[in-house]
Amino acid sequence: MNLVFATNNAHKLEEVRKILPSTCVLLSLRDIGFFGDIEETGKTLEDNSLLKARTIWEYINSHPQSVTIDGVFADDTGLEIRTLNNQPGVRTARWAGDDHNDAANRQKALHLLRGKTDRSARFRTVITLIMEKDNAGTENEPVAAQVEGKVEGRMAEEERGDGGFGYDSLFIPEGYDKTFAELPAETKNSISHRARAVQQLSMIL
Ligand code: IMP
Repeated sequence: MNLVFATNNAHKLEEVRKILPSTCVLLSLRDIGFFGDIEETGKTLEDNSLLKARTIWEYINSHPQSVTIDGVFADDTGLEIRTLNNQPGVRTARWAGDDHNDAANRQKALHLLRGKTDRSARFRTVITLIMEKDNAGTENEPVAAQVEGKVEGRMAEEERGDGGFGYDSLFIPEGYDKTFAELPAETKNSISHRARAVQQLSMIL
């Protein structure tokens, strides 16, 4: 089964490739010749992941590919910090400004959390999958499904670790005393928000 994952983020592609069954061949946006920008204008993670999946589904239908594409999925992730009223949420990528700079985002988190005792937070990922409905005899129409994955944890007092990406050096998952960036990739991949969402995705493929 050939599936397009609507991202070019090498970390995400690697994480998701390891979780999906080996029968799934994962293609990136680059692999299908999509080099545009998808503006995340939605008000929720659900809206944005649907927007990204729809944009790529439409692109594939107007740009013939060398392999049959069986489906498209897109993820959107939010960091929800309890003491900040679940901010940054849908603004996680652009929290420190529209230029989307992960280092500036992490500095903003540390700044706003200075002196706070409640540092609890969670990551939430919503994945939207679009596939043709397999209904022989009638005209095929695409169907969309959404799945979600969450991981609870807390924000570290300072950046720790070199692994991962985004906010990984600040996020300590529940049950651990190391950040995602300090933990082995296999550990993150077994408990992360995206891993849990992709496990749900595997169940509906
Ligand atoms: P998006 O899902 O690519 O829109 O990501 C939203 C924001 O969350 C970006 O700033 C990412 O760097 C960050 N992010 C997404 N997934 C992770 C993760 O697994 N760890 C840390 N940060 C992440």
